[in-house]
Amino acid sequence: MSTGESIRLQRLFDGGQNVVVVAIDHGLYNGPRPGFEDLGPIVDRLRGADAILLSPGMVPHVRSVFEHRGAPAMMLRLNWGTQYATQWGYHESRSVPMISAAQAVALGADIVLVGMSIKTGSELVDAENVAQVARCVAEKREVGVPIVGEVYPAGFLPLALGNIRSRSLSDIYRNDPLLRAIRAARFAGRCGACDYADLCGGSRARAYAATGDPLGDDPACPLVAAGTPAA
Ligand code: SF4
Repeated sequence: MSTGESIRLQRLFDGGQNVVVVAIDHGLYNGPRPGFEDLGPIVDRLRGADAILLSPGMVPHVRSVFEHRGAPAMMLRLNWGTQYATQWGYHESRSVPMISAAQAVALGADIVLVGMSIKTGSELVDAENVAQVARCVAEKREVGVPIVGEVYPAGFLPLALGNIRSRSLSDIYRNDPLLRAIRAARFAGRCGACDYADLCGGSRARAYAATGDPLGDDPACPLVAAGTPAA
């Protein structure tokens, strides 16, 4: 870790183990969220957070929140991905860069964040997504800014599998029990008995939201909704 990364991380954690990060960058994917149309006053009320996650375009509208001593750290997202633009029904989990780590620092970022989807169903897309993250990591080393690299099994499944500061990405991907179960289609209920489990797998995020079990039934599936017995 470079000196700059270490200084910025120490400043954020201030000797502790945990920080409160408020993520308000969802408009990047889904348009302005209700209540967030007038960004300035909303973000102003978040001054007590340790860090605020923004998209790059938000910065000029909320810069005053970060222009004083003791302000929250600014965390900026570097890439955009189709997996979060749920309103358009995308299904390839493609990702494109928005800004470089250097441009993020020029905007005032203390930390950068990059999202990555793998096991998209396309080897080419997986490889492109990994290459993009690798570029972001190389860039953040050059400019000395920390990068957030938590790993989730799905974009809307809030179960962190680990942190790449303490476990390598390949170790998480290969050995995490939840990822192994998903890859092996070891589901519960109707999904577990389904002939299409290996091909489909359902939405693990919806299953978790509805049942509390990420390996449970996907309630949006017509087979599950109809109570259709497994073939
Ligand atoms: S979501 Fe439906 S089709 Fe997909 S595995 Fe579950 S039961 Fe089968």
